[in-house]
Parts: sequence; C-alpha cells; structure tokens
Amino acid sequence: MDYARAATKNVAPRRTSQLKSAPSTDNWGMTAFSSLPLSPATLANLQQLGYESMTPIQAASLPVALAGQDLIAQAKTGSGKTAAFALALLTKLNPRWFAVQAMVLCPTRELADQVTVEIRRLARAEENIKVVTLCGGVATRGQRASLENGAHIVVGTPGRIMDLLEREYLSLENLNTLVLDEADRMLDMGFFDDIATVVKQTPKERQTLLFSATYPEGIEKLAKQFMREPQQITVKAAVAENTIEQRFYEVERSNRLDTVGLLLNHFRPVSTIAFCNTKAQCNELVTLLQGQGFVAQALHGDLEQRDRDQVLAQFANRSCSVLVATDVASRGLDVKELDLVINVDITPDAEVHVHRIGRTGRAGQSGLAVSLASMNEMGSVGKIEQYQNAPSVWFKRDELTPTGENGKLGRLLPPMVTVQIAGGRKEKIRPGDVLGALTSTDGGPPYTREQIGKIAVTEYCTFVAVERSIAKDACDKLNAGKVKGKSVRARLL
Ligand code: AMP
Repeated sequence: MDYARAATKNVAPRRTSQLKSAPSTDNWGMTAFSSLPLSPATLANLQQLGYESMTPIQAASLPVALAGQDLIAQAKTGSGKTAAFALALLTKLNPRWFAVQAMVLCPTRELADQVTVEIRRLARAEENIKVVTLCGGVATRGQRASLENGAHIVVGTPGRIMDLLEREYLSLENLNTLVLDEADRMLDMGFFDDIATVVKQTPKERQTLLFSATYPEGIEKLAKQFMREPQQITVKAAVAENTIEQRFYEVERSNRLDTVGLLLNHFRPVSTIAFCNTKAQCNELVTLLQGQGFVAQALHGDLEQRDRDQVLAQFANRSCSVLVATDVASRGLDVKELDLVINVDITPDAEVHVHRIGRTGRAGQSGLAVSLASMNEMGSVGKIEQYQNAPSVWFKRDELTPTGENGKLGRLLPPMVTVQIAGGRKEKIRPGDVLGALTSTDGGPPYTREQIGKIAVTEYCTFVAVERSIAKDACDKLNAGKVKGKSVRARLL
C-alpha cells in the first residue's frame, strides 16, 4: 500500500508537552495499535478487522488526536485516514447519551458512505452506536427519521447538513469532535461558506480534525478561523510510484474511444476504471463498450442516488468490468484490486493524474495505468512529466492484440453477476441472512461460501454477487426460498 512515512510538525509549540512519547514499534518496525490508549474491546476489534499495525498517517496522528488536540493531516484515500479520525472520535463518544457528538464533513456522497461504513466497522466493539449519513440527492424524510431516533455520529456533505440545521432537524450543540475530510476537495467544490455556516453552529470547545491531500491557501484560512493551535502531520512521498507501471499511447480523435476496447482485450483486466474529462465522453464510451460486448457502467454527477449505489455495488463486487467515471464522481472511491486505470482523456491537472493512477497498485499490488493522448494533449503530458519528475513511456497502439490461446479468448466477462434483492437495512436484512439463504437447502440445492461474493446491504435493497455460472439458479433460489424467514423478490442485474 502507498503508506508513506509520516512526520509530525509541531505548529503549536506551547502544546507539545501533551505529546508524551513516540508510540512503541513491533519487530518489523511497525507501530502497534496497543501502544495507544484504546479499550481492550477496540484493540480486539482492530485485530479482527486485520488491522495489525498502524499505517504511517495513523501512527503520526492518533497520539495527537487521542490527546484531544486539533490536527491538520495530509492524507489521501488509501492511507488509512478514516480510521485515524474514527478511532479518535469513537473514544470520546458516550453511547448512552443520544446526542450528535461527532460530525464528519465530506465533499461527496460516495466518500460519506465509505466513511460511514468504516466508522460502523470500528464502532462494532462498543455498544449500539448510531451513525447516520446525511447527503443530498435523496429525500430528507429518511434522514429526519434517523435523526429523530437518535444519532451519535453524523457523516455528510455540507449542503445537506446546512439544510437540516436550518430546518432544525439537526442540532450540533453537543458536538465534541468535528472532522473535515478531504478538505481540499470541499474547497475546490466551493463549500467554504457552507462549512463556515455549519461550523458556527457547533460548540467552540470542540476538537477539530482536518484531513487533506493537498494544502491550498483555503486550508490555512479554515485552520485560522476554526482550529485551535493545530498540530500538523505531513506525509513524504505520497505516491507509490514503484508499484504502478505507466504507459502512454498516442491516439487520434477518431480512434481514442476504440482504443479502450483494444486495451481491455489485450490486458484482460477484471476491474478497470476509465477516466473521462466530461460526462458526455463517459456516456459515449459506455455506449460503445456495451455495444462491443463489455460490461461497462458510467459513474457521473447526473446519476440518481439509487443508480449510483447500484453501479458502485456492481463494480466493487466484480460483476462490472469497467467503471467509466469523471474525476468528481470517483473521488474517494476505495476499490481494492483494481487492475487497470485508463486515462481516456489526459487531465490538464497533473495532480489529478496522480490521484487517478493511484487508484491501482494499492496494498502493495502492482498496477497498470494507461494514458491515451493526442497531439494536442502533449502540453498536459509535459506537465505530468514535470510533476512526476519522470519521462512518459510510449507504446504503439497497433501492438495491442487480443491475448489468450490463438489470440482468441472470447468476450471479456466479469467473474461475478449481481443479484438484487428488494429490501435492505429498512427491512433489517444483514449480509449473514442472505448468505444463510443461499447456503441453505431452501428453494434449491445449497451453494458454498466460495460461490458467493460480496453482499452489500443499502437502505432499501441488497446486492449479492454470485459466480456467473450459478447466477440464474441462485436468483431463482432466492425467489423460491426465504431470507430472514420472509419471501423476497430477487432479480439479476
Ligand atoms: P482510507 O484511507 O481510510 O480510505 O482506508 C483505506 C483502506 O485501508 C480501508 O479499506 C481500511 O479499511 C484499510 N485500513 C485502514 N487502516 C488500516 C490498518 N491499520 N491496517 C490495515 N488496513 C487498514
């Protein structure tokens, strides 16, 4: 994983005394969670989650955050930043007090969803802790009801949170931890004033934790206005350059989109993200790829929430080969095991390029990032070379040939298929219920755990991935049998 070394810079000399000693390290020089003042239940939960040692950003920021200090940390998705702030806010939380005690502000719905999932996983160790996601794009009714039932932690986008505050559905008067996640992105998206409005409704004596991949000017302004003597954590060498191979192909306007299919047939990746600069380009590419027999879906800002959930679930569970996305829509996406990133268009922003390619080569795996550039994009390629301090390596488009036996492997199909079940969290369905239904003898012969992939429960429906060869039978079995003792409706996506 691209966990780089992190260093703490003290920007608050008067308060350094609170930082007692550097955390202890284990035999591998990694930092153990047990060096932190965390409860035995939390430590046991971390172990169960497979978090054996802290990532550099966690090792540098958790002692500061757990000591109650304000913090500005440079961290991007994939660094383990969510656990860094989640463990801090959970430690302070009183589960028996039904008041919103912590809030995480995020730039996008996808990030908010991911943060909520991670907080819930980390909170399993404690009593019943309620985390509510508050984002735009869906009716406020459900969110209002969740708040009325009592929420300890809210995670959401500034606009919707401001809206709920104005209408007095949400109160932040008991907040003790405020997190600004991907603060640079929120500023990019013009959220400064909304953040200011929201923060003004929180108590002054709160702890504020700010996470940002970059430090544009606005961050300092935020820190000055809303933080108290923050400690600053910086991360050196943010990209794991060595695990990502980059290739450039020269294309023309007329063959740019066709090249994507050639790349897929040549490299035969299970999971690919193809980045386009515009929504129109996304739609055009998806139509073309689907016409060529690939399982491809678009992810961009125009999609309804339900469609986005569906697309993301299918991509994450390996039943969609290609996610065609714009930068904003894909921000914060945490996909493990991504084989290929294709820059269908070169981005004019070199930093965005690094973010795009950083989605592959995670967790120490090797990754491939391919960029398609036409003559009039060479200026942007130059900027990328400068930024990365490395020349671009070019390959020839006509060397892209279908691989496999005799050059013919047939259609590139994803290994899994998604079955959608009507009913989700509202119906109190849990992944174990669906797994139970598929591995039972109800409604047809039982399947093994290995034939079943990811099970994602959303508010209103559940997505379960099954091996392609059993998809139809598994769907029939769900329709014929029972989930949680009740009949359900299931369909293949
Ligand atoms: P994040 O940067 O918060 O999006 O986290 C990236 C991924 O790393 C998430 O899937 C986390 O569940 C995982 N993760 C976070 N901390 C650790 C850790 N200490 N050890 C192993 N995995 C971790």
